[in-house]
Amino acid sequence: MGLVVTALLFSCGPSKPISAAQSNQSTPLSGITLSAKDVTNGSLLLLQIESHKLDPPVRDMRLTFQQRHYPLYPHPVAPTDNYFGLIPIPFRTAPGPATLVLSWTNTAGTHRRAIPFRIVAGTYKTDELKVASSRVNPNKKNTERAQKEARKIKRIYAEGSVDRLWQSDFQLPMSSDITSPFGNKRVFNGKLKSFHNGVDFRARTPSPVFAANSGIVKLAENLFYSGNAVVIDHGTGIFSIYAHLSRIDVTPGQHIEKGQRLGLTGATGRVSGPHLHWGVKVNGIAVNPMQLIKVLSPLLPPSR
Ligand SMILES: [Zn+2]
Repeated sequence: MGLVVTALLFSCGPSKPISAAQSNQSTPLSGITLSAKDVTNGSLLLLQIESHKLDPPVRDMRLTFQQRHYPLYPHPVAPTDNYFGLIPIPFRTAPGPATLVLSWTNTAGTHRRAIPFRIVAGTYKTDELKVASSRVNPNKKNTERAQKEARKIKRIYAEGSVDRLWQSDFQLPMSSDITSPFGNKRVFNGKLKSFHNGVDFRARTPSPVFAANSGIVKLAENLFYSGNAVVIDHGTGIFSIYAHLSRIDVTPGQHIEKGQRLGLTGATGRVSGPHLHWGVKVNGIAVNPMQLIKVLSPLLPPSR
């Protein structure tokens, strides 16, 4: 990855300080605010930086977590001297103390600040699901198909827009009951296969599915496991995924507004019944979509 922040080279728009009320927990580190000191595996951490409180003039800020660099972006509302970073905590991360490292340079040299937090184990349950056996133990042809699709999707996540394509908060893709939350262990036909990397919404009959935020459609096709699926690139490393649709109404490359209809719910792919599977990825890592909505909300005023 090795993304180096050049965001400091530009600033625009009226500046507004980030108030303490906009973050749910502040760290004692001046100018650096982490969204939470305790974060469950499968969650997103939001880091907010007021660079004028570090030792200005700050250049070349770099954010690192577990040897991986994470880009920093200008704050959506107050871009002058204010930045944010998104750090997804993978579901399979072991609980315990963890550290983000922020480094930067100024005329005096290079500075490094450790930002401690704690990863705690989420309380996730188990889903026992009955699906067609051909979707649990696929034949050679379907295994190859699923592997090819996985590679394609991985490439899509690696080539996301650096620009922030979202202007307001993220919203649910439909209004319905959640039948399976993020993080449940998935036991298909008695075999533990994976963890649930999204949220399932009840949709017994075909119902409209709406874009969680504005962005660009990167994929709109039938996949072996996800069925008819749509993937939207929202920029800043964030993608949303809508799966098992009965109908797709968008095409790759299309610009999408928040709330725009993407298609209809259905029961295509590996399903035990009709529903909408909704997932989000940040820098290629699945995080809890419901938690993502909450954690990003301090950055932006709610949409009207
Ligand atoms: Zn699901």
